[in-house]
Amino acid sequence: MDSGSIRRKFLEFFEKKGHTIVPSAPLVLKNDPTLLFTNSGMVQFKDYFLGNAQPKSRRVADTQKCLRVSGKHNDLEEVGIDTYHHTMFEMLGNWSFGDYFKKEAIAWSWELLTEEYKLPKDRLYVTVFEGDAKENLPFDQDAYNFWKEHIAEDHILRGNKKDNFWEMGETGPCGPCSEIHVDLRSEEEVQKLPGKELVNQSHPQVIEIWNNVFMEFNRKADKSLERLPAQHVDTGMGFERLCMAIQKKTSNYDTDVFTPLLSFIGQAAGVTYKDSEKTDIAMRVIADHVRAVAFAIADGQLPSNTGAGYVIRRILRRAVRYGFTFLNFKEPFIYKLVPVLGNQLKDVFPELESQKEYVGKVIFEEETSFLRTLEKGLKRLDAIQAELKGQVISGPLAFELYDTFGFPIDLTSLIARERGLSVDEDGFKAEMEKQKSRSKADAAKETGDWITVGTDVKPEFIGYDNLEADVRIVRYRKIKQKNKELFQLVFDRTPFYAESGGQVGDTGYIESVNEKVYIHDTRKENELIVHFAETLPENLQASFHAQVDRQKRQLSMDNHSATHLLHAALRQVLGKHVEQKGSLVNDRMLRFDFSHFAAMTAEEIQKVEQIVNQKIRENIALDERRNVPIDDAKKLGAMALFGEKYGDFVRVITFDPKFSVELCGGTHVPATGQIGLCKIVSESSVAAGVRRIEAITADEAERYVTESLGLLDQVRELLKNPKDLLASAKGLLEEKHALEKKLEAFQQEQANQLKDKLASRAQQVNGYHLILEKVSVPSADALKNIAYGLRNQFDDLLLVLAADVEGKPQVAVMLGEKLAGTNRYHAGNMVKELAREIGGGGGGQPFFATAGGKNLDGLDAVLEKARKLIQ
Ligand code: ATP
Ligand code: MG
Repeated sequence: MDSGSIRRKFLEFFEKKGHTIVPSAPLVLKNDPTLLFTNSGMVQFKDYFLGNAQPKSRRVADTQKCLRVSGKHNDLEEVGIDTYHHTMFEMLGNWSFGDYFKKEAIAWSWELLTEEYKLPKDRLYVTVFEGDAKENLPFDQDAYNFWKEHIAEDHILRGNKKDNFWEMGETGPCGPCSEIHVDLRSEEEVQKLPGKELVNQSHPQVIEIWNNVFMEFNRKADKSLERLPAQHVDTGMGFERLCMAIQKKTSNYDTDVFTPLLSFIGQAAGVTYKDSEKTDIAMRVIADHVRAVAFAIADGQLPSNTGAGYVIRRILRRAVRYGFTFLNFKEPFIYKLVPVLGNQLKDVFPELESQKEYVGKVIFEEETSFLRTLEKGLKRLDAIQAELKGQVISGPLAFELYDTFGFPIDLTSLIARERGLSVDEDGFKAEMEKQKSRSKADAAKETGDWITVGTDVKPEFIGYDNLEADVRIVRYRKIKQKNKELFQLVFDRTPFYAESGGQVGDTGYIESVNEKVYIHDTRKENELIVHFAETLPENLQASFHAQVDRQKRQLSMDNHSATHLLHAALRQVLGKHVEQKGSLVNDRMLRFDFSHFAAMTAEEIQKVEQIVNQKIRENIALDERRNVPIDDAKKLGAMALFGEKYGDFVRVITFDPKFSVELCGGTHVPATGQIGLCKIVSESSVAAGVRRIEAITADEAERYVTESLGLLDQVRELLKNPKDLLASAKGLLEEKHALEKKLEAFQQEQANQLKDKLASRAQQVNGYHLILEKVSVPSADALKNIAYGLRNQFDDLLLVLAADVEGKPQVAVMLGEKLAGTNRYHAGNMVKELAREIGGGGGGQPFFATAGGKNLDGLDAVLEKARKLIQ
């Protein structure tokens, strides 16, 4: 069975069991402070388990793109070394949100594996949670009993908390789980040692393929467990591992998920997979990592120096490094795999195929720049190793490699390990802390648990239609950020817009009879709308009047609607390849990042601005539609952004159906005329293939225009109000240029005259031509020219000039060709001596030297001393 059919069968099976099939959520998370990436199928459903939101369907199944490279679940070190852990992998899952529980979950997983996929029953093992005394958790007798109905009892094993109690992160939903393992060894090996001895022993062919989690608890910030309002099922099956089992392979990389990538890499490197352990690992690393990197970029995450972007950069660099060292890839290569991968997965995850050019370009640039530093960094590492006393690369040295050469610490450790060295990682961390004391304060964020006030109703956003409303607090919690205590409040309904889609969160206040509390930010946490306050209201039960800062909201709306007009205008002027890659909208400006491969020309920028302003003047009324079925929205021409999570029903914002139709949750002007004016103030590059426009609207644009015109007025006045300002400024520059030329010629002429005069006054002394003079010249260059001119004239020249150069003293000593050969005089030494008289220093070559100084009155003394030196 090929991998495509395996995936399809899974979804069809659960569809038949009454599940709704949903799309994968994006790999990169936007509104979750606890996670950077989706690390399991349940992440997008977290709010359902926590009771923060209601699922539309209580049975759901999907395949989810997962990334396990940071936080609680981090497999990066294993990837490529072993054959069954990936950075990005697909997790097939089925869910019950308060619907069926252990009995059905267990029965169906058994049915699917043994009847549909026909995995041999005697090669399967299952585990159940043995309980944990410390946490007061019992043995999972129910799971055990349900399994007993299907599988031999000696294939049911008991597992401890580490393996059989699943937790998403440090906090959040969790519960006991039951894993299914498969033994893929040969019959001969199975005879020697029964598979149950190898379950959970990190054996590469006795591995876990599926985990059925029975969600019952929420892990709170103080680490205690709290029972969830309902019981849920959350299962996750590693798709690549399942393919291995069904296709009877012993490594994920031998399945058709990876073979196209491996053969492409092999061809490029001139090696075959399974030639040698070292090249195999490198090939696996690249085949794996390109998936993580390409899909993260397709979901909108560019490699960068912080957060999720840095994780992506690190993964790519790890792949580059393996290719560079073991496959001799000295030029960018990984980007070439993007089309192969896009084509392979286009039916399931079309986001890569449709952006392959853009994604390839980003990877190419990133590879290019890293290869440049990699070579330098490896040289530095050689040097470090040569000087190393002992076997440990110190923290500061590892930090230097990180800071100067962009070597992530895991990369340095990896190279060190290969060379029989180790890295003082704690020392490295200490260095890191020193440099980033600010982000350290950030990391020291503490989040308390939610405390419910009264009844916890589902919060409702009413801010599209209202900027004020009467609200009640339904829950709150305390957080500590940068050593400052803040409070997060959730209301039963709220007019405050929470930051999303690039638009900043609303600010304002809430007020009751006897107190007023300022809201200084509003953000989303998954489905919750969270208000940030510096103080906690004293009477939490009170009814509050909530008021959004009107002016700020209005200006943000101006900028947000202008962003839509700009987006549409860019697509008109530059082409349909323009896609939004990021945006920021606040009350002062708008920033719009989009895919485009060249800098925009001045004409293009002007054209875009023109279109936007024309649409503003047309005063197009907003057409806002809420709850449009997603497919209808697409038919209207709305473009879904990759990396954005949409529900079945979406909001569509239209300004002229022939011009701008977007899926958007932001707030917009009732008609475009309100924007007043839009000015593009900059166009620049953010990353390979991504351009950025910054623009301003309304009051800010007016201020900008007024200021610019004011500046122009000042210039005009300065130039005495000419008719044609530009011609006048140009004329002035031309005039200046002509005058400079004239001056130069004049000075040249003067210098020549001076030179001739000096030559005529040369004295014959001891058989050579001596010139000892005080002169006045316009520049150091002129002085030098005179000296060289005289040298050309007399090959037995001995010249000392004490010069006044525009009020500053200088000394020049020049020896003719004959004298310079004699060793009798040394111009450099003479100048050093003479410079003392003018309070300065200098030096130069044996035949010519100059010195500057501070004391102009010393010029006569210079000549006197020179005379003595010569005698
Ligand atoms: P393991 O112990 O093998 O790392 P896990 O306990 O971390 O697995 P779960 O968190 O239960 O795995 O995830 C559910 C399933 O997802 C696993 O049974 C496995 O098939 C798959 N899986 C987990 N991590 C990876 C990974 N890094 N690469 C590929 N598949 C994975
Ligand atoms: Mg794991």
